Amino acid sequence: MHEILIMTPGPTYVSERVRQALARPITNPDLDPDFYEFYKETARQLQKLLATKNDVLILNGEGILGLEAACASLIEPGDRVLCLENGIFGRGFGDFVKMYGGEAVYFTRDYRQPISPEELQEFLEQDSDFKFATVVHCETPSGLVNPVRELCPVLKKFGILTVVDSVSAIGGEPLLVDQWKIDIALGGSQKCLSAPPGLTFLSISADAWKAVLNRKKPIAAFYCNLALWKKWYEEKWFPYTQPISDIYGLREAVDLLLQDESRLERHRVLGEAVRGALLAAGLKLYPVEGFANTVSAVQVPEGVKVETILEAMLKKHRIMLAGAFDVLAGKVFRIGHMGENCREDKLYLTMKALDQVLRELGVSLSASLPLEFIARAGK
Ligand SMILES: *Cc1c(COP(=O)(O)O)cnc(C)c1O
Repeated sequence: MHEILIMTPGPTYVSERVRQALARPITNPDLDPDFYEFYKETARQLQKLLATKNDVLILNGEGILGLEAACASLIEPGDRVLCLENGIFGRGFGDFVKMYGGEAVYFTRDYRQPISPEELQEFLEQDSDFKFATVVHCETPSGLVNPVRELCPVLKKFGILTVVDSVSAIGGEPLLVDQWKIDIALGGSQKCLSAPPGLTFLSISADAWKAVLNRKKPIAAFYCNLALWKKWYEEKWFPYTQPISDIYGLREAVDLLLQDESRLERHRVLGEAVRGALLAAGLKLYPVEGFANTVSAVQVPEGVKVETILEAMLKKHRIMLAGAFDVLAGKVFRIGHMGENCREDKLYLTMKALDQVLRELGVSLSASLPLEFIARAGK
């Protein structure tokens, strides 16, 4: 029995090298001075990936922890926070804001379109009294990317700190943290880095540190308290014992990703090839613009249930695709083409199986998915 090909938009395939790194002998991470150096070097590698000189922290929980930690550490009761919302994660950010006593003000736009920097500018000219704004780089459930490159400089111009959830984009979409003026950029281990779920990493700017450290009220959290991390290296002290094996795995994964200089090009070409093939066959994507190169959300063809597609893919072909949740439940299925899943051979097999499954379910396709994919991927 061969392994299942996991083509979901995270967690992604974990390579043998990363799995071996997870199995390395461990030391006591609180007491071993070499581990502090290893951790520092790992943070440096992540700085390269994020194109930033800002401090990088690794937190010991899955991607969501970073979103919550940013909110817990920045928000004081009554603070106004602007939540850019054109997707499920964008709206969800507001829930964390409220949980920590902030007032979430939503800048809500069409879920099928990227947020327009011009419209944001117009909005801010009327009201810009916000401590920070939350921006989702890639809306994973809908396969849509927002123009973070333009949105964050607009926000900063109005003196608003920028918190960007780039969990499903980092490593697969361009991201230049310093150049784009991102105060807190958030990533996770299980998306484009192709390490197992369990770690969050984030970069934090001098402006964001100031806001975190100069509060009137102390941060009402421990695990989500970023201030505790300010001097971890100088004082050789971690707030809690580090999951050393996970960090070995993450380090191997970031080293591998950085060695692959064609990573962004690979995501761009193969992402385009997947979309091109789906459209050529007559299928429809969920967004109308701003297509992500890390995940495609395909509208479920009429007369077919998403569960039926997913089940046939898994049972007959041993390929796992994903549905979606919340307002997109039942409306789309998703193909992850991020990190180690963004490979021509895996995507070819996926397209071949999907072609067969859809035809068997009576969906008429106007072209062959695998042939259309290969014609574009080879370019
Ligand atoms: C995956 C992801 C996260 C992390 O949360 P999950 O529990 O893995 O869903 C956060 N934000 C985005 C945009 C993600 O895609």
